[in-house]
Amino acid sequence: MFSYVSTRGKAPHLDFTGATLTGLARDGGLYVPETSPSLSSADLPNMAHQAYLEVAWRVTLPFVEGAISPADLIKILKAAYKSFNHQDITPLRQIGDNFYLLELFHGPTLAFKDVALQFLGQVFDHILARTKQKVTIVGATSGDTGSAAIEAFKGKDNANIFILHPHNRVSEVQRRQMTTVLAPNVFNIAIEGSFDDCQDLVKAMFNDQVFRDDLQLSAINSINWARILAQVVYYVFAAARVGKPVAFCVPTGNFGNVYAGYVARSMGVPVEKLIVATNRNDILHRFFETGKMQTEGVVPSLSPSMDIQVSSNFERLLLNLYGGDGGAVEKTMKLDPHTAVGVGVAEEYRKKNPDSVIVSLATAHPAKFPEAVKKAIGIEPELPAQLADLYQRQEKYEVMSANLARVQQFVRERVKM
Ligand SMILES: *Cc1c(COP(=O)(O)O)cnc(C)c1O
Repeated sequence: MFSYVSTRGKAPHLDFTGATLTGLARDGGLYVPETSPSLSSADLPNMAHQAYLEVAWRVTLPFVEGAISPADLIKILKAAYKSFNHQDITPLRQIGDNFYLLELFHGPTLAFKDVALQFLGQVFDHILARTKQKVTIVGATSGDTGSAAIEAFKGKDNANIFILHPHNRVSEVQRRQMTTVLAPNVFNIAIEGSFDDCQDLVKAMFNDQVFRDDLQLSAINSINWARILAQVVYYVFAAARVGKPVAFCVPTGNFGNVYAGYVARSMGVPVEKLIVATNRNDILHRFFETGKMQTEGVVPSLSPSMDIQVSSNFERLLLNLYGGDGGAVEKTMKLDPHTAVGVGVAEEYRKKNPDSVIVSLATAHPAKFPEAVKKAIGIEPELPAQLADLYQRQEKYEVMSANLARVQQFVRERVKM
């Protein structure tokens, strides 16, 4: 059996299914593999010509040993990625000399979180069908995780899913992607408060041991190891296709995605560098979140020449980074805002390391953030065919104050039904 240990060292060792169902370890730690499986020297050259599913099977197999059979793993992977609308699942596109974009947005909700959550949904299905268990999934979302999780669990007999989002604080596309799913096991709760309020409510439900055990609560946030594992695959896939040591540039929030790159590296993938692209605490960050350029007062720092709020120069900067190629800037700005941050950072890295091969991760489709993209380039990106009628679809959600007892009562009543 391949075994997982808690980062805090006090929770029991578990196999893959145990670690997946448990999510957060009982000692408050996160589950990690006890040892690191390696790829053989022949694996990567072989994978250069393999389909995504073949690579996925080879990469994930050692991590599920003793918990999921090789044949079942094939079924799980096939089912997980059948809803992607590109045959390569995560196609690698060359956008310059030694410069690639890894497109992670071809899943049902147009963000990279589908790669992980579609896999997680199938793993849950497999485990719960065998053990005849039924679980209650509760999660908080600031936008993308919620819809990806709902898509992965909608209509499943063995799970009810409750997703809390901050009322009026997610984009309309993001809200509609969650609230127009009318499957009877899906419940959207708009909390009158912030994302932090939503996350606090979810944590409080997990910390209520009676509630947790009564309802068989399960977590789908990025602490879940199965999500990380699914993301390791596309690093291996991309590195194999490039065929040389490569630097990955990753637009980063909770560090889940870039950590998956670290796991790929520890398996022997020649990762020259993992570039953590953040947009923390500046006006561009807020611009990308809300689509609004809004000043909030200057915060003095030790580098006062940089204490500037209105970043109308972002396009200039991008133009510089592209060596004056305006066409490239336009193309970049057509990327979704998160991807654009990654590409901007990658360009900077390329200037300093001209011999490096870079793969920058495209984490969402531009149509997920139409306001931000329209503000930047004046063009509203179109939703792909499967979501073309999103604005006409009926919505279903509850608006609730950030009151734990009220939310718990709502969940209890719905699970009983
Ligand atoms: C979640 C998300 C991120 C951040 O990913 P982490 O794994 O939290 O670092 C970046 N871009 C998009 C579009 C996302 O949805």
